[in-house]
Amino acid sequence: MKRLSAKELEEHAARLRAMLVLLSGDIDRLEEEAIGERGIQIDASGEGGTDSYSQEFSLELIQRDESTMREVLEALDRVKNGSYGFCEGCQAPIGKERLKHMPHARNCIACQRKEEEGLA
Ligand SMILES: [Zn+2]
Repeated sequence: MKRLSAKELEEHAARLRAMLVLLSGDIDRLEEEAIGERGIQIDASGEGGTDSYSQEFSLELIQRDESTMREVLEALDRVKNGSYGFCEGCQAPIGKERLKHMPHARNCIACQRKEEEGLA
């Protein structure tokens, strides 16, 4: 498989930067929701069962967004140092289709599967 061209690299970098903007907006919104719900919960003193459930849900989404954001930032670092598009596990080029769907992917599908199965 060929290396990514400068143009392709720039396209991926642009998408990664756009993802960062979206993610940070999302986190801000979720944080506001979580804080707002906490306020309600204090007023309801003890009867905030569903509130605390949805607050937990917001916090879970924040955590997921934050970890995606970290991966996006790491991918942008790799764009800078020239290792973008190569698998962290086996150093093989990551498939272009995979990068199109997931520009912050840090490993190839085979290594990702191994990781998910807990074998890596
Ligand atoms: Zn790999």
